[in-house]
Amino acid sequence: MQIIIAKNSGLCYGVKRALNIARETRQKKSGNVFTLGDLIHNPQVISDLKEQGILSINNLDRLNGATVIIRSHGISPDIYKLLAKKNIKIVDATCPIVKKIQRLVEVLSKEKEEIIIVGNKEHPEIKGLIGFSQKRGIIVENEAQVKPLPHKKKRAVLAQSTQDFYLFEKIVSALIEKTEELKVYNTICHSTKTRQKSTSELASCVDTLFIVGGKNSSNTNKLYQISKRILPNTHFIESANQITQEMLKTAKKIGLSGGASTPPEAIQEAVVRIKTSFKHQSQREKIVQCQR
Ligand code: SF4
Repeated sequence: MQIIIAKNSGLCYGVKRALNIARETRQKKSGNVFTLGDLIHNPQVISDLKEQGILSINNLDRLNGATVIIRSHGISPDIYKLLAKKNIKIVDATCPIVKKIQRLVEVLSKEKEEIIIVGNKEHPEIKGLIGFSQKRGIIVENEAQVKPLPHKKKRAVLAQSTQDFYLFEKIVSALIEKTEELKVYNTICHSTKTRQKSTSELASCVDTLFIVGGKNSSNTNKLYQISKRILPNTHFIESANQITQEMLKTAKKIGLSGGASTPPEAIQEAVVRIKTSFKHQSQREKIVQCQR
């Protein structure tokens, strides 16, 4: 039995940065410290933060004297205004890459472009970007949603930073049919691209693959879909204890990967669980990095 961990997996730069900012803020500030929404889409990390006194909130009432951390996904200009109006101190941990996409959307909206944003309408990053688009943004989640769009002379299209490149490509192709001049901005971030590439390479060289991460994490879901397309024997688990003997029944070469919000410990716990299930074969077991 071999266990292979994807070359690029786990916490991305933006999420690590937001976690460090949150912990530093907790050390420096004496009052309550909140995050506006879950700082990262991972239940274990959220509960660790709670123990450190960093709580997640969803409404801005009764926050006198508190500090609110803006998570890596960013927020819309309306929420910035509301926080300022309520005199709430903020610490902005928006990922600099997301900030760059927000500025791009702002510029395009000033140029009076129709902006197609390829992403999940419920995702906080997309809600923020729509706010920056001054009502010029249209969210497209799949190819079918391009069909009802009218023909246009000009349009711009960009993607949620964690979008699946394959889906983005398909939507861009469909938009080309409907637009005379289409400006394409590939705003999928480098961390997302490397995680998607490593996971698809890994899916081609193992017989069983576990994607570890929060079910509400957009980028982890994308990794699962990418791997499942290549390797039907792909399982999406939130924690190691979801790995069953049934899942490992025919496994000889097992891959593990995690999204931008999956802490390294979660992947290590899955390794331990798999090793325990195969303990009778322990002499032959090998943990390696995918070489492809
Ligand atoms: S996935 Fe990319 S854009 Fe999103 S937080 Fe991580 S580094 Fe930033």
